[in-house]
Amino acid sequence: MLKRIIDGKAISKTIRDSLVPRIMKLKENNIIPGLGIILVGDRIDSQTYVNMKKKICDNLGITNFDVKLPEDTTQSRIMAEVQRMNSNPQIHGILVQLPLPKHIDEETILNNVSLEKDIDGFHAQNIGNLALNRQGSTATKLYPCTPEGCIELLDRSNIEIEGKHAVIIGRSNIVGMPLALLLLHRNATVTICHSRTKNIEKITQQADILVTACGRTQMVKRDWIKEGVVIIDVGINNLPDETKKRGYRLVGDTDYDDVFEKVGAITPVPGGVGPMTICILMKHVVQLAEKQLECKHEQQAQSAKEYEDRINKYGLGEGLNYTI
Ligand code: NAP
Repeated sequence: MLKRIIDGKAISKTIRDSLVPRIMKLKENNIIPGLGIILVGDRIDSQTYVNMKKKICDNLGITNFDVKLPEDTTQSRIMAEVQRMNSNPQIHGILVQLPLPKHIDEETILNNVSLEKDIDGFHAQNIGNLALNRQGSTATKLYPCTPEGCIELLDRSNIEIEGKHAVIIGRSNIVGMPLALLLLHRNATVTICHSRTKNIEKITQQADILVTACGRTQMVKRDWIKEGVVIIDVGINNLPDETKKRGYRLVGDTDYDDVFEKVGAITPVPGGVGPMTICILMKHVVQLAEKQLECKHEQQAQSAKEYEDRINKYGLGEGLNYTI
């Protein structure tokens, strides 16, 4: 039977635990997974997200190489950091914490992250591969972390996607748009709503799966949904709350208490999509480090084969200065 609360914390822990033996195997082969993080400016939320990511890296034994730059940093300074991380073999994935300050051309920065290290899947080529449902040149499918986390939540809660009407509120490049593509590739019928959508509640009432990703505090109410809908709430909003030390609490784009009795299942905020985003990021670092190991093994096999070919051709003596 479907559990009403989709527990992102528990699901993300299962995924993180499954990374431990993979990281150990990499270390046995002298590869320590490494994450490069570029944080620009003093946004408290961005700093909090980066600190959370660094803490989980530490827990898992993933090395983080973080660079913090001031708000007034130039485009070329960030670009130089990206290039430095691109050429550092100890860094397997690069995370540019978004949003970047207004004077920075975000698109150019993201497109300069090497395709092989594009841990967030934001590079235009990776988004293109996602749109076309292709494998991509790195043979490592990397999708943007939050949308991939949403799909994992559905899959690991045994919620069927195929044939369902999925409605997404939000069309951003980091959540709504890539998630729409992922759901489409899983044979859902997808409707995307945004700030110009008219009569939005008439559309959300048709959803079997509703993803709320618009950053509007508790916008979705009980009368916006049909009985039994599955809600994935991506939104993170601050709601003033004097009972809390910091003066606010985190809530989603859905009014959780209002809809709870009517839904088939729902992700809480916090404890739903948030932890999944971070654990998928960690999974991507490990995947890219494994790719490096695979390449190393392929190179060794190639060298061994060349050595054998030389011996077969010239006999021992000629090929002896070949190292493998
Ligand atoms: P974004 O770039 O600001 O995009 C918001 C989207 O929502 C836009 O497509 C916008 O429409 C749409 N929208 C805004 N107001 C609306 C309204 N009243 N009705 C319908 N659609 C509306 O935000 P984002 O980066 O996608 O993030 C969305 C939310 O998810 C935020 O709360 C963010 O903090 C959260 N988030 C959470 C995680 C996580 O790990 N849990 C990760 C990323 C983001 P237009 O395109 O027409 O402007």
